[in-house]
Amino acid sequence: MDDCIFCKIIKGEIPSKKIYEDEDVIAFNDINPEAPIHFLVIPKKHIESVNHIDEESSKVIAHIFNVINKIVRELNIADTGYRIINNCGVDGGQTVNHMHFHVLGGRELKWPPG
Ligand code: 5GP
Ligand code: ZN
Repeated sequence: MDDCIFCKIIKGEIPSKKIYEDEDVIAFNDINPEAPIHFLVIPKKHIESVNHIDEESSKVIAHIFNVINKIVRELNIADTGYRIINNCGVDGGQTVNHMHFHVLGGRELKWPPG
């Protein structure tokens, strides 16, 4: 998608602090962190939101969770804990229409969200 900022990050047209990359996904630090650790994991394929997942593309979600598992261990927050968030649509607070999973950690997080 030409006007998608996350597609531009994937292509390197917008700089980002990349922390993981493979054939199918990338992870990078959120530009506006809400916790000491706050990164996003996104599929390289432009999928608008979880509403647009089908049987085939849902495989990338399993992969994303594997990648999160690896990164949180590298960042030493696997044991202290963290939160994985997906915002979907307007009421869900989604502002970038390229499906992404937030991972927040490094401090005790409040629940429930507002
Ligand atoms: P959403 O609200 O759609 O769930 O989350 C979008 C996230 O993307 C926000 O937390 C926002 O800070 C982050 N974000 C938006 N633009 C950029 C950018 O250009 N670079 C990075 N690294 N993060 C961004
Ligand atoms: Zn995109």
